[in-house]
Order: sequence, then structure tokens, then C-alpha cells
Amino acid sequence: MREYQGASPLVRPFGDAAVVILSDGVVDAGNPSGVFTGVSKHQIDSRLHRHFLPTDRTVLDENIVLFFSSGKRILFDTGIGGLQMLGPNAGRLQESLVQAGIDPNTIDAVVCSHAHTDHVGGICTENGVPLFPNAQVYINETDFTFWTDETLLGSPHGEMVTVARNNLLPVRDRIVFFRDGQEFLPGVHAMSAPGHTAGHTAFTLTSGDQSLFLTGDLSLHHALLLELPQAHVTFDQDPQLAVETRIKIFDMLAESKMALVGYHFPWPGLGHVAKEGDGFRYFPEPIRWNFNSLLRTA
Ligand SMILES: [Zn+2]
Repeated sequence: MREYQGASPLVRPFGDAAVVILSDGVVDAGNPSGVFTGVSKHQIDSRLHRHFLPTDRTVLDENIVLFFSSGKRILFDTGIGGLQMLGPNAGRLQESLVQAGIDPNTIDAVVCSHAHTDHVGGICTENGVPLFPNAQVYINETDFTFWTDETLLGSPHGEMVTVARNNLLPVRDRIVFFRDGQEFLPGVHAMSAPGHTAGHTAFTLTSGDQSLFLTGDLSLHHALLLELPQAHVTFDQDPQLAVETRIKIFDMLAESKMALVGYHFPWPGLGHVAKEGDGFRYFPEPIRWNFNSLLRTA
């Protein structure tokens, strides 16, 4: 039995239009002490206790943003697709799109923060059929090249490389590489955020006079990696660079007070960060209901 069915799409007014946050469900990354390293088990457990979270599981949401900008429908990351490698409760993106009344054929752009399984796994079916057939696919070139490298198939990265190849190579002729700082789609700027992967990228969305920051995997966890930003993550390609990038960008977000969406934060992952002690603290934004009229007009 599935213990968690994911959440309904959330429509949030944003500048001249709206963003929709779609749930891909949740993944279970296992025991926190196997995921977060470089800090003591006591530090991890005390933070988890403080947030009323279990100390033996790492349950992470997958919050996917759909941005309506200048007539384009732009989707950020695609979840884990049909893969069950991180539990049976993810891979709901297509169902969430149906719930939101969005036809996947109408998606103009799929933007990838990086090439890990839980971000590119929903671009194609397991048989390599594109699920967003009319979309250009945007990704950092370094990430694309590394994670589709067939010489890594037998390495510890092999499983991730297999998934990246299955999802990215069938749409190779639709892939566009963005550069750091570039506005590569209307209202979408890339910000290089290396460490988690070499080409990991965050995005600033702008609409009217508002901005929204998509953190990708700068912080896998809303409590542990904000309150203990110096912690390492076993999935990080370069953990020390990931720490430096995390602190630099969350400093910027705390300073600017910009709203953000954390891909792996508790649904819908929308909120702000502020500095607290030696790290940061996440403040979720209250959820408002009944924005359906916006969805019809976006
Ligand atoms: Zn991730």
C-alpha cells in the first residue's frame, strides 16, 4: 500500500502570471547517517528531533515547478519517472499534470537543474519515448557530458548514468545548453551552483516585479542542510565545493529575502530562508487556496 499519494497541484500567483507546483511524490533516501556526513550523528539527530522528524529515514519531497512566462510553459525537472530505486511513492508527475489540467504535449521547455536520477528520470518512458514531445530540453553541458558518458557505466555512478542516458539521449536533438547568468528562456536566468554535480544549476524566475529562486539540490533537506550547511551529502560529486556554493547562495537569498522553491523541501517547498546561528532557517510560505481561475487564464 502506498503510504503517501502526493499532493494536489498548487497554483501560486507570481508577477504577471502564475507558477504551478506539481508533486512527483516522495523518495526515501535511507538512514540520515548514510546520507549526511561530515557532522556528528548527535548533531543530525538533535536537528531531526527538533523538527519532529524520524531519525532512521530521509524522506524527501520532489516539488516540480511549472512556470507560465510570455506564452511559454516551462517545467523545471521531471522527477524520478517509473523508477522504483528510491521507493514506491514517487514518479507521480504525469498524474499531477492530469490533476492540474495540463497536457504534457503543451509543455514548451523542460529545464534540468542537473542530471541525477530524481530530476531527469521523468523525461522519457523506460522505453525511451519522450513524455514531453514538443519540449526543448535545457541542461548544463558539463552535466550532460559527464552523466551520459558510457565509460562510467561500470563505475559507482553506473546506475545514475544508465538513467541519464535513457532519458537524455532519446531527446539529444532537442537539448539546448545554457550558460551561467544567461536568460535562456523569458524570465529564466541560470545560476551556476556546482558541487552537488559539476554542472548543477539554480534558476531565478522573474515575472512583473517579482522573483522566485529555484534551488534545485543546493540543500537536499529543509532542516539539516540549512541549519548545518557545512554537512556533506554522499551524493555530492564535490562535497566541499557543494558546501561553499550552498553557503554563498543561501547567504544571498537571506540577504535579498527572495522567495524560493526547494526541490526536496516538504511540499510545496515554497518559502524563504533567513540566517540563524551558524547557518540558516527555512520559513515555509502559508498555502492559500482557490486560485483555480488563475490556472485557466495562465
Ligand atoms: Zn535531487
